[in-house]
Amino acid sequence: MPEGLIYLDGNSLGAAPAGVLAAVTRTIEEEWSRDLIRSWTAHRWIELPLTVGASIARLLGAVPQDVLVADSTTVNIFRLVCLALAIRSERRVILVERDNFPADNYVAQGVAELLGDKVELRAVDGERLASEVDDSVALVLASHVDFRTGRMLDMSAVTCAVHEQGALVLWDLSHSAGVVPLALHADDVDFAVGCGYKYLNGGPGAPSYFYVNRRWQDVAKPPFFGWLGHAAPFALEPRWQPAPGIRRLLGGTPPILSLVALKAALAAFDDVDVRAMRAKSLSLTDRFIRLVDERCARHGVRVVTPREETMRGSQVSVAFEHAYPAVQAMIARGVIGDFREPDLMRFGFAPLYVRYADVWDAVAALDDVLSSRAWDSPEFRRRAYVT
Ligand SMILES: *Cc1c(COP(=O)(O)O)cnc(C)c1O
Repeated sequence: MPEGLIYLDGNSLGAAPAGVLAAVTRTIEEEWSRDLIRSWTAHRWIELPLTVGASIARLLGAVPQDVLVADSTTVNIFRLVCLALAIRSERRVILVERDNFPADNYVAQGVAELLGDKVELRAVDGERLASEVDDSVALVLASHVDFRTGRMLDMSAVTCAVHEQGALVLWDLSHSAGVVPLALHADDVDFAVGCGYKYLNGGPGAPSYFYVNRRWQDVAKPPFFGWLGHAAPFALEPRWQPAPGIRRLLGGTPPILSLVALKAALAAFDDVDVRAMRAKSLSLTDRFIRLVDERCARHGVRVVTPREETMRGSQVSVAFEHAYPAVQAMIARGVIGDFREPDLMRFGFAPLYVRYADVWDAVAALDDVLSSRAWDSPEFRRRAYVT
């Protein structure tokens, strides 16, 4: 981490782990430059979507063979929504969380338009998913941890309620994996997906991972037939035949440099006990919430993240009328968080590299920005395209 920087945005773009530069450089110098095309076999490039998936599996509470890394979260949501609808083809409703990240719901909208009358979208609050699911629902699509508020749903209970109605569930883990212990296998989750570049630190645009319950891996065809998902890609047969298991969901040629970066980044988790990681995460967010209450509530800010530990991911969101310029003023003081519409200052706490001292210093900076009204300055009000 650059000297003097407090980085509370690992929920958006994770830090750059120490081993990544060397791993990518080695791949370029020794594999790409020297061994060239032989590297697909000699350096097992072709297996990286599976092997990197296998190394994420522990963080998901999944069996290594049930996780793949490919494409982006957006593309993988499309894959899995279509797959789920193919499996539950006699039903027509996709039940989505109203306040989910737009990427997820836009894809669901697109699938509904693509399939015309066969599919209907229904949107409800996250808290109501379990009570609103009925026997018309094919799929429930939801985020485990809400990107705005940091509110965490009870994955086990919601998954049970969904299954009781004969529906399937697709969990977006973009704000959970790498900070919250997960048990996809034990909870019998159907599908899950998430970003490689947030708490997993895979780098800007890192490929996404997805999980498919073993029960569903061989029962339906993917929405598009990737040639690497063919049973024998290099047989180059005219007709597509599915590979066994999750591999049939592969698309085309994987981005090797990005996969190598993600793989090296994941090494930071090798010796990490996920329960200890969760304990530190909760301790960081607890302290942050308490300090904001004590020192900043008088300025009209309000913590919107649940105080109940079982309902909280690893971020704290603070509502404030002038949230955008306040975040900019904090960034000018070396404390990086971000802004989310309409009025949220969002602070992510990656337990692998955020320190307790950072919590204290970040709240001191927030208090200073609010007391001095530093946010009330034209330079901080100019909106960038990326917020
Ligand atoms: C970050 C995030 C995404 C982003 O998807 P990309 O395809 O990587 O742009 C999607 N969904 C959720 C819930 C996210 O938090």
